[in-house]
Amino acid sequence: MSDIAFIGLGNMGLPMAINLVKAGHSVVAFDTVPETQEKARAEGMAVADDAAKAVAAADFVITMLPNGAIVTRVYETIVPAAKPGAVLIDCSTIDVTSARTAHAMAEKAGLLSLDAPVSGGTAGAAAGTLTFMVGGQREAFDKASVILDVMGGKLVYCGDGGAGQSAKICNNMLLAISMIGACEAFALAEKIGLSAEAAFDVISTSSGFCWSVNTYCPVPGVGPKSPADNDYKPGFAAELMAKDLGLSQQAAEASGQATPMGARALELYSHFLENGGAGKDFSGMINYLRSATRGG
Ligand code: NAD
Repeated sequence: MSDIAFIGLGNMGLPMAINLVKAGHSVVAFDTVPETQEKARAEGMAVADDAAKAVAAADFVITMLPNGAIVTRVYETIVPAAKPGAVLIDCSTIDVTSARTAHAMAEKAGLLSLDAPVSGGTAGAAAGTLTFMVGGQREAFDKASVILDVMGGKLVYCGDGGAGQSAKICNNMLLAISMIGACEAFALAEKIGLSAEAAFDVISTSSGFCWSVNTYCPVPGVGPKSPADNDYKPGFAAELMAKDLGLSQQAAEASGQATPMGARALELYSHFLENGGAGKDFSGMINYLRSATRGG
């Protein structure tokens, strides 16, 4: 069993860390929010006063934080405090440049490091079935696999440092596009008199099936339980999806690749956030579309 430091115990981090505790690992947690610290304590984790203390004895240091600026700031604290031989694993979704900066900081200190963002949402985090897409040294991946396996159903080694984040932003651009498509289909079904049940039963078993419909339906009362059944409480916040779409647009611009649907998805998520979407799950896009004017 390993000593693990877990930093950032929000919607995703807490259930991921709980699975590590359940598997018998010793987890020292740190989060800046006191209520979150309490939740971690209640789940059998030790809670450190700060990030440096959390990592002092850890074999593996996992971060699950909102964005690249926060990750690099936290790395400034944890890299000098980590013990020799520790493997740093950043599971946050962040820009490739910040991910490479974090790798460089670790490498300078002689530490192995991985960027290991995830897919599968809070349900996947709770069930331990996340997909990890991982960049960094192969040696770090081989060492960390036993830990990632506890939290994930599938590990994909994507290549050098930053490759995990590259995979993640491509996946999430597609997810945003498919969620907007699912929301459009269900909103149109409503308007033309088709029940949500009938729309779900047909689409989920026909060529329109996709994760956004089958697993995370944006309409309440149909399909598996999803944030739609909980007044669109995140889940995966619309702000985080807009962040990810910004990252894929940055990458598209830098590489010269046309991504017209990704660009439109970013516009729509920005409009949603300005019109009631702040603090809502990204599937709440359906409510924005219901109220949007045609051609808008
Ligand atoms: P969240 O906002 O619920 O959790 C982030 C946590 O980090 C919070 O508890 C916050 O207090 C803590 N935090 C912020 N700054 C900190 C600091 N300096 N030190 C310690 N703790 C700090 O976000 P989330 O939904 O758990 O997402 C976390 C990451 O995972 C994001 O990068 C997101 O894009 C990614 N992600 C989220 C989902 C999802 O469905 N929610 C799915 C895949 C990936």
